[in-house]
Amino acid sequence: MDNQPYYRETWAEINLDAIEQNIKSFKRHVPSHVSVMAVVKADGYGHGAVATAEAALRAGASYLAVAILDEALALREEGITAPILVLGWVPPVHAKIASDYKITLTVFQTDWIEQAAVVLDDLTLTIHLKIDTGMGRLGIRTEKEAKLIVECLEKYPGFMVEGLYTHFATADELDNLFIESQLTAFEEMATYFEREGIRPRWTHLGNSAGSIRLPDRIGNLIRVGIAMYGLHPSQEMKLNQPFKLEPAFSLHSQLVHVKQMNGGEPISYGSTYRTNEGEWIGTVPIGYADGWIRKLKDSYVLINGKRAPIVGRICMDQFMVRLPGKTKIGAPVTLIGYQGSEEITIDDIAERLETINYEIPCMIGPRVPRIFLQNKEKKGVMNTILKK
Ligand SMILES: *Cc1c(COP(=O)(O)O)cnc(C)c1O
Repeated sequence: MDNQPYYRETWAEINLDAIEQNIKSFKRHVPSHVSVMAVVKADGYGHGAVATAEAALRAGASYLAVAILDEALALREEGITAPILVLGWVPPVHAKIASDYKITLTVFQTDWIEQAAVVLDDLTLTIHLKIDTGMGRLGIRTEKEAKLIVECLEKYPGFMVEGLYTHFATADELDNLFIESQLTAFEEMATYFEREGIRPRWTHLGNSAGSIRLPDRIGNLIRVGIAMYGLHPSQEMKLNQPFKLEPAFSLHSQLVHVKQMNGGEPISYGSTYRTNEGEWIGTVPIGYADGWIRKLKDSYVLINGKRAPIVGRICMDQFMVRLPGKTKIGAPVTLIGYQGSEEITIDDIAERLETINYEIPCMIGPRVPRIFLQNKEKKGVMNTILKK
């Protein structure tokens, strides 16, 4: 076998220049004392965690964030030495692994501290305390809980409190009322911890939406996820975006079969589509197992700069399209991205699926290789299936 990294004709292109640009735009948008934490959980929102983390760091991000410990360890295994915060709850028995790999954990329970202290013995662990100011998900909720945390931390000097943070529930909506209540609640908690001698280096409140809207009121670190990939946190915010976001993700394939049909011939499972006389039908080798789900059956792709509707049901690995005319096998098919003056955006797909843009690149599975572009050149390929 030669050492081609993959053998299929379907791939996602990840424009790392766009990611660098977006991080730089955030750095310009916030005051100079505010640093950027690049959120690369869920394999960099489906863009590839390692390459996007490296791009963000090149552009000046100071910290990385992931959802689970495994994601943090995977970045360390790839040689990334930047600080990494795990945003989710990590089982306290794994505190030692986190300590060994210099991974920062999110903490908000006294029982957790007690249990982690046992496995840590005399090792140290860097932690960020999480405050629940209205998201109702994770975090310390009351001053009473905060007091117990402070007492517990006094017992165990191995925990280094490096950060204090919270998460907004409604930052992507235009109404500010609830954010204001969360800001106030956070302020009160921060004041309490400060009185108790806990003055962490980092305070952080803003996700992409919060950081775009309140750049000077969200602490000294911003947690940028969706917008680093060039996507708007919500459609409302798209209309009020103060700087340009450059989408990084596009999805491509090629026609692998083309044929001219007689009238009334069936296409795909269930024979739900029947051809018109003389119609040209093409086959595209991507299907629901790749994340191009069956609900997309009424959408279209771009071929030769024109829209070609999907016809019949989407299969596990392929679907069929109606072509404007005879078309070459191997003709490029764009599922997300530009062809000529036509464009299909991630937002278009999200709207069609009645969901948010966040879900779309996450949905494109590991069987689709990611090709990374840097300085407009191909800069490596990641195929989760074939790797290792
Ligand atoms: C995912 C996540 C973020 C990033 O949010 P975006 O809206 O994608 O910017 C920030 N903070 C926490 C706690 C998260 O879980």
